[in-house]
Amino acid sequence: MIIAAPRRFSGDTLVIASHNAGKVGEIAELLRPYARTFRSAGDLGLPEPEETGQTFAANAELKARAIALASGSVALADDSGLAVAALDGQPGIYSARWGGPGRDFLLAMTRVNDELGDSADRSAAFICALALAWPDGHCETVVGRVAGALVWPPRGSNGFGYDPMFVPCGHDQTFGELSAATKHALSHRADAFRQLVARCFG
Ligand code: IMP
Repeated sequence: MIIAAPRRFSGDTLVIASHNAGKVGEIAELLRPYARTFRSAGDLGLPEPEETGQTFAANAELKARAIALASGSVALADDSGLAVAALDGQPGIYSARWGGPGRDFLLAMTRVNDELGDSADRSAAFICALALAWPDGHCETVVGRVAGALVWPPRGSNGFGYDPMFVPCGHDQTFGELSAATKHALSHRADAFRQLVARCFG
């Protein structure tokens, strides 16, 4: 079996396939050494495709491919969420939607806790898929994760989403209590970016 070498990024413009200015700024900062110009799907007026995939990787790939094709430049997309073992991986790709239209994460965390009930298995992982797509349709994809356990009630006000109920393995505090620097070193996104940089940049 011949395994093709990963394709490396060699252009000077990278389009970040997101309309979320905070996310775009954070990704541009992480990849600053490797591209001269960063654009976002938002600045280019490109619509965000519907996330119709059944996995984090499929959703990241469909977003990256659509934006690479529409912009004519290499595009990077992510998809992330919380997978709870005793809930068969839910909320998973629906993590944002469990917060309802108002993206209320106290509501989403309460639903996770209610669905867990008195299950002895409180293990969970945050997962982040990153897909880098070229306008010819080629795509390189990596999946990062951080394992941990869910606690109740939620603790801490740092971070966002499900952070206040997630204690990463090897720690006693939740992502809501740990500093941003500690979370950013340990997180699923950090893991995914380390893999992507080793594979396609640098
Ligand atoms: P998206 O990948 O931007 O669609 O985000 C998916 C959802 O997953 C977010 O709205 C959060 O609910 C959850 N999520 C992803 N990453 C994190 C994290 O680092 N902490 C807490 N929640 C997260």
